[in-house]
Amino acid sequence: MFVTAIIAAGGRGQRFGAAQPKQLVDIGGEPMLARSVRAFATHPSIGEVIVALPAEIAADPPDYLRTPRVRVVAGGARRQDSVANAFRAASASSDVIVIHDAARPFASADLIARTIAAAAESGAAVAALAVRDTVKRVDDRRVVRETIARETIYLAQTPQAFRRDVLRDAVALTDDATDEAALAERAGHPVRIVDGEATNIKITTRDDLTMAHALTKPARTGRAGTGYDLHRLVDGRPLILGGVTVPSDRGALGHSDADVVCHAVTDAVLGALSLGDIGRHFPDTDPRWKDANSLDLLTRAAALAREQGYEIGNVDVTIVLERPKIKDHIDAMRTNLARALGVDVARVSVKGKTNEGVDAVGRGEAVAAHAIALTRAR
Ligand code: MG
Repeated sequence: MFVTAIIAAGGRGQRFGAAQPKQLVDIGGEPMLARSVRAFATHPSIGEVIVALPAEIAADPPDYLRTPRVRVVAGGARRQDSVANAFRAASASSDVIVIHDAARPFASADLIARTIAAAAESGAAVAALAVRDTVKRVDDRRVVRETIARETIYLAQTPQAFRRDVLRDAVALTDDATDEAALAERAGHPVRIVDGEATNIKITTRDDLTMAHALTKPARTGRAGTGYDLHRLVDGRPLILGGVTVPSDRGALGHSDADVVCHAVTDAVLGALSLGDIGRHFPDTDPRWKDANSLDLLTRAAALAREQGYEIGNVDVTIVLERPKIKDHIDAMRTNLARALGVDVARVSVKGKTNEGVDAVGRGEAVAAHAIALTRAR
């Protein structure tokens, strides 16, 4: 699936009253626009980013927009005109197009991923927040006329994502709208809500800017841990890596399922919190763990991290194995590890290497895995 991101940055932010366009205002040492674009340009699901800018900025864009995956187009009079211009510049091969306001510089990678996934499935999806406060409708003297059932009210954010055909119908409508989801609705397409984020604020006023600066203050330091594991390869054992049984005439020797990937990641997570190692928490002398599924051990390690007030930021694993080739199994391993860790699959990386015939691993006598985990305070 090819995904195009459109960053709507064509406005001049007059409500903001700054000397320069709002999207160029500094937030925590960086222009708002640079933050918004980077969230998409570095996202693993996104193939290209098109930024719609006021014509004078599009003619001479800042350096942080001069990168291979980012293109710039001139915006239009209204936000929807800017998006329409960007849509015309999008690759003909894009399946899903995700639109985001430059004025929301804090959208997370998970939020972007789930909006894209929902649009791929149902045609159109918008990030939105459920209303927590009681909602009142008032008259022009600000006297309450009605209390509205808040269960029916959501506050729309961006990202908003659309299958290409749905967005084509939406941008063909020329009547005024404050977002593309409204146009898609008018074009008769169902639009699904995905959970937005309270921190995904839109910077419209000076007060919002104060909030934005607070959000960029350094969080409690993350903690990194590494893990390593090696098992001998012998005839007549299954080869289980990251919970996936890889077809092979030889498998890893050891207690339990001898899954070096899970063992290395478990040690990385425990190491990040200085909690010792897998042998301390899950000794193979204990009958409870003797034939344990190593994904379950990893789930328990992640739960220990959460008990300490940390969540998993991301995990990266390198498997060193001479044969068989594992590239067709990488995605299944990532899915298993992500589920055990309780994180989005975009936060889990698995890579394969051979040892070029060198040493015991290179002679096919063993399989090894290296892992690193980053945890961060919740
Ligand atoms: Mg082991």
